[in-house]
Amino acid sequence: MTTYKLGGAADWFVEVEDEEHLVEVLAAVTNREEVLVLGRGSNLLIADAGYRGLVIRLSGEFLKIVVEPDGILSAGGAAPLPRVARAGADAGRCGLEFYAGIPGTVGGALKMNAGGHGSDTATRLLSARILDRRTGDRRDRTADMFEFAYRHSNIGPDDIIVSARFSTEPCERTTAEKRIREITRWRKEHQPGGTFNAGSVFKNPPDAAAGRLIDEAGLKGYRRGGVAVSEMHANFLIADEHASAQNVWDLVWAVRRRVGESTGVWLTPEIRFAGEFECTGDELTGLEPTR
Ligand SMILES: Cc1cc2nc3c(=O)[nH]c(=O)nc-3n(C[C@H](O)[C@H](O)[C@H](O)COP(=O)(O)OP(=O)(O)OC[C@H]3O[C@@H](n4cnc5c(N)ncnc54)[C@H](O)[C@@H]3O)c2cc1C
Repeated sequence: MTTYKLGGAADWFVEVEDEEHLVEVLAAVTNREEVLVLGRGSNLLIADAGYRGLVIRLSGEFLKIVVEPDGILSAGGAAPLPRVARAGADAGRCGLEFYAGIPGTVGGALKMNAGGHGSDTATRLLSARILDRRTGDRRDRTADMFEFAYRHSNIGPDDIIVSARFSTEPCERTTAEKRIREITRWRKEHQPGGTFNAGSVFKNPPDAAAGRLIDEAGLKGYRRGGVAVSEMHANFLIADEHASAQNVWDLVWAVRRRVGESTGVWLTPEIRFAGEFECTGDELTGLEPTR
């Protein structure tokens, strides 16, 4: 259920169809249980031992995308980002084409402030409907309440993103379609498509590209078990069919240590981890970022 296609099972898994179903499921969960909302799993590594708690995946109504007459695009928390981009283009609205190359959902995009090609979620989001899983409280929050920064929002583990509203501008449909084609082509040329990965593993540090630092540290092709640093884009760690989630974890921290020791820049993982991993010791080095 993740793009790495790795990791063990959850104790419980439920796919919910609409907001009322979600509320019913949450009413059955006590406050002691861990809950993980799963989007497309395109930024997530689940441990081989699995997840001790409930995994919720939004489906049904949460997949809906509507472009209102005033051009505001409303999408459910599970709507796939490439479809959001296409829905905007089909309606002759521009601004969300950058989502065409990001294989996540609206919920994952808000949480991570997903972006690329000169834009990001923070730039386009107007508001989102959030359900607090502990209190059951449901309210709309405007974009300025999310404290967005580069690949960061203040959306916490108890917040479930039910839906979101995005701004767009009128444009020729063909203009938006052309931009989507350009973005898709750029991705094919620069990223290792068709492989098991979770996109960029590390955030770019200020004024530098994580991939370039990893490359300069001589780590392209560097491997742990069934996982290797991509030769095409060094910020992608590619898993083969014999890989384990622990191999990915080990490689993430080994790469971070080697880059830190050779360049003085200690990278921060962008991907998120769920479940328990075995520590190798590399995780503890360079905890103070140097720039
Ligand atoms: C090939 C590839 C290319 C990528 N390129 C980019 C890129 O250009 N730019 C970029 O920013 N990212 C990129 N990514 C990373 C990823 O696609 C984004 O971070 C995306 O927004 C994650 O969405 P998701 O639905 O897969 O989230 P998941 O990986 O499923 O989850 C990520 C986090 O969001 C939380 N979450 C998900 N849905 C909800 C919800 N409804 N409510 C509350 N919390 C939720 C999860 O609990 C988890 O903490 C790429 C990934 C891949 C595999």
